[in-house]
Amino acid sequence: MAGAAPPPPLTALVVGAGVGGLTTALALARTGVAVTVVEQAGTLGEVGAGLQVSPNASRALFSLGLEAGLSAQAFRPEAVEARGWRRGQTISRAPLGDAALQKYGFPYLHMHRADLVAVLGAACEAEPRITLRLGQAVAACPRDGTPALVLASGERLEADVLVGADGIRSLVRQALFGPAAPRFTGNVAWRGLVPAEKLKEAGIGPVASLWMGPGAHFVHYYVRGGTLVNFVGVVERDDWREESWSSRGTAEDLRRDFAGWHPTVRRIVEAAPEDACFRWALFDRDPLPKWSRGAVTLLGDACHPTLPFMAQGACMAIEDAAVLAACLSGRAVNEVPAALERYEALRRPRTAAIQAGSRRNAAIYHLRPPFSWARNLAMQAGLGMGSTMDDLYSYDALAAAGEH
Ligand SMILES: Cc1cc2nc3c(=O)[nH]c(=O)nc-3n(C[C@H](O)[C@H](O)[C@H](O)COP(=O)(O)OP(=O)(O)OC[C@H]3O[C@@H](n4cnc5c(N)ncnc54)[C@H](O)[C@@H]3O)c2cc1C
Repeated sequence: MAGAAPPPPLTALVVGAGVGGLTTALALARTGVAVTVVEQAGTLGEVGAGLQVSPNASRALFSLGLEAGLSAQAFRPEAVEARGWRRGQTISRAPLGDAALQKYGFPYLHMHRADLVAVLGAACEAEPRITLRLGQAVAACPRDGTPALVLASGERLEADVLVGADGIRSLVRQALFGPAAPRFTGNVAWRGLVPAEKLKEAGIGPVASLWMGPGAHFVHYYVRGGTLVNFVGVVERDDWREESWSSRGTAEDLRRDFAGWHPTVRRIVEAAPEDACFRWALFDRDPLPKWSRGAVTLLGDACHPTLPFMAQGACMAIEDAAVLAACLSGRAVNEVPAALERYEALRRPRTAAIQAGSRRNAAIYHLRPPFSWARNLAMQAGLGMGSTMDDLYSYDALAAAGEH
């Protein structure tokens, strides 16, 4: 006797074409879902800055067939090192490179954000089940969990499921759960990219470096095959709250913030292009008690904005996408709300733990003496990054969703 016919493929609307939205579109399309992505920006892109893609996320991206595209653009760091801000003494060192590959099965990658989005965007454009609607802002969506939205043009779109991957100021989140301003964390981040050839004399190794100082820290690593050095410098401030990737600060302010730091840090900030010093205030939210209503759910920064101090915000969005697609795979329209409940039940505890861990790291990285001495001793004793990252990096999103 023939079994029941499979349900007809679902249709999905995804709001936002950042790392989260594009990965979601691709993951859903690979399970047969027809996806429309609506993005307010006129072109796909990300500002010039780096992103660490740890093995938990590279695993999910590779499962979408992106290994070759990503590997061509990435830089594979040999290790992550923590150092003292002034003397530069190594406080801890956790191997990455081949060691990470052997341990977790997937590599640790450093990417230019624009490169990651370009690889995701090209894969979406090549996927016949995905329609990208760029330059179209979503103006409204229902509060009751109906998977529909209204564009700024007045056009109404509907589907079987709607995913709000529209970032920290998510309109979809606000429609579902009401307005709530994100909280300023008291940290302001500088970021920039410096051509590696301008830093030849600095002797920067093929590692991710974290320099920890009183009330501030500085991270740098290579991207784009080692041709650029990405840096993020975080300082505690309460007088500046513009949350934007592209608010310009002056190079002079940046240098002032890191005056007195180790010469390697100073060389990097001195080489930062005068016209490309960007800074932004860092915001976050407490974990949300709910992500979904009816056939509408949230993903990425829209539901768990995460401080960058574990380098996991985009990685969590990528994991979300893999789990969401697995939960919806093969479902009928009337099963969508239950599938979304399962997705959020699988994802909320892990993302909340990463949000909390990232907040904790901000405090730990910025400790002042004598507490910083105790921190350094603890990290030297092996209570540092390597040992705590195993659970994080070995996560298999598809296995978590019961796919293999
Ligand atoms: C300094 C810094 C360093 C970081 N480093 C790392 C790192 O190393 N590793 C890591 O994993 N994460 C890192 N992160 C976090 C990471 O950048 C974010 O978590 C990630 O980009 C979130 O992706 P997203 O797709 O959820 O949201 P976003 O990237 O914010 O994308 C949201 C998209 O939705 C669109 N949109 C919004 N509203 C609408 C609307 N009404 N209509 C249509 N479109 C809309 C936006 O234009 C945007 O394209 C870092 C963050 C910062 C600030």
